[in-house]
Amino acid sequence: MRSFYENTLALIKESAETMKLNQEIVEILSSPKKIVEVNFQIKMDDGSFKTFKGFRVQHNDAAGPFKGGIRYFPEVNMDEVKALATLMTFKCACVNIPLGGGKGGVIVDPKKLSNGELERLSRAYINSISEFIGPDKDVPAPDVYTTPQIMAWMADEYSKYKQQNEPGIVTGKPVDVGGSLGRGEATAQGGVYVLEEYLKLNNLDIKNLRFVIQGFGNAGANAAKILFNAGAKKIIAISDSKGGILVENGIDIEKAMKIKTDSGTVINYGEGKVITNDELLTLECDILILSALENQITENNANNVKAKTILELANGPITWEADKILNDKKIDVIPDILANAGGVTVSYFEMVQNKMNYYWSAEEVQTKLSPIMKNNFKVISENAKKYNTYLRLAAFITALQRLENKINFKIYS
Ligand code: NAD
Repeated sequence: MRSFYENTLALIKESAETMKLNQEIVEILSSPKKIVEVNFQIKMDDGSFKTFKGFRVQHNDAAGPFKGGIRYFPEVNMDEVKALATLMTFKCACVNIPLGGGKGGVIVDPKKLSNGELERLSRAYINSISEFIGPDKDVPAPDVYTTPQIMAWMADEYSKYKQQNEPGIVTGKPVDVGGSLGRGEATAQGGVYVLEEYLKLNNLDIKNLRFVIQGFGNAGANAAKILFNAGAKKIIAISDSKGGILVENGIDIEKAMKIKTDSGTVINYGEGKVITNDELLTLECDILILSALENQITENNANNVKAKTILELANGPITWEADKILNDKKIDVIPDILANAGGVTVSYFEMVQNKMNYYWSAEEVQTKLSPIMKNNFKVISENAKKYNTYLRLAAFITALQRLENKINFKIYS
């Protein structure tokens, strides 16, 4: 199996060949501009010192400052961070916002840290990369197991380093300290806007569809809530890292969210059947939403997938090999670089609001987000037709067209 980063490079190569892109552009986009690896220490609650390893990868900034989340996870590695940073460049280009691509990560299991240890770790990590980031240089954000509170600590630490208020150093902050209204749900909301456009194009009604959702965190739980409130009453299965539940006549999402908050996992829902994540991925359904981690559908389980359409809210949840199998099975995949781009789009809105020091209403955020997601879905669908290809490749082609223009201006001007 190719690595996540190799998958990403293979996609760039394939889309570049399909659109006959200049090889020099492909070369520029096939390696990150800068890679930072840091080791830093924090004092644990028991008085001992512990060393942690962190990364920041700056892939490309032809479109604007590097932009991308920070992941706290025990299995974070350089290959993964490079892949995610590369995807960020393509994601921002896919929705045509003036930002480049970056990503960060720390090898840690945050569930094993106390709140104080988590704060010290977050401050120490941002300190160790502070010379490489900046509101017009590289702006981190939340990703897996990083929260608005963590972003607030990071903004505060960077502000101390600069000796001035610097809320624009990270996005995804709590609204009280310069966050944008709507950022919490933005990834899910953006994905739902794209899905609505897809359903319209295919004459499908959300109310009649069976949904299965893997991952019940920021992206997955918010998607479930938004869909449920929009009339999707047949969300039949959801899951988190502990496993999933299957309730044939539909899950009450408000109840599931409460159970997840109170007990830490959706498997305590108390109705239906407890299932594994592997079982969940092969359930019969109309829409499968992947909102956990990368490499969930691989060549080993792709043949058993029975969903008619997949929405990728997670980054890279389908491997290169699995993508080909799903394509042969005529399963539509709405790709990550479009489907989850609502998150970075509202992060961009947050940067704009921080710069102006003037804040928008929730309605204003939605009014600006919706056309970006829907119009870019249309552009990508048109490119899929034009190049006679599938949506993922069309999304990469759309991004490459935009990146080529920006890179050409920079190199030849
Ligand atoms: P999160 O930490 O809020 O939630 C992650 C969820 O996945 C949790 O419910 C966790 O229990 C579950 N999970 C972890 N391992 C799992 C496994 N092996 N099987 C099933 N579930 C598992 O993270 P998030 O922000 O929702 O991110 C989820 C995905 O969405 C990631 O791929 C992330 O890169 C992507 N994403 C997030 C954002 C954002 O704004 N938060 C933006 C774009 C993309």
